[in-house]
Amino acid sequence: MSGCDNAVEYVYQYLDDELTVTRRTRISWHLKRCGNCLNAFQFETSLKKKISDGGKTEPPEELFDTLRALIEQERNTGDSDC
Ligand SMILES: [Zn+2]
Repeated sequence: MSGCDNAVEYVYQYLDDELTVTRRTRISWHLKRCGNCLNAFQFETSLKKKISDGGKTEPPEELFDTLRALIEQERNTGDSDC
């Protein structure tokens, strides 16, 4: 049986909603019967959730530094133009 190989291969696409309904149904059906793939699927799901949650809650410090630098630059060039 190569059902496990297919399921693991499609887990990432499943999570990214890149699968057709037929494939999604096939995988969810496999996950119901196969504990190993279900564990892998749940691990990937929680990992993906953690990553997306972290991206939302943590502001990128580099962005603020870049903005500050741009503002400083704008001020400096504005002064010299006057
Ligand atoms: Zn399996």
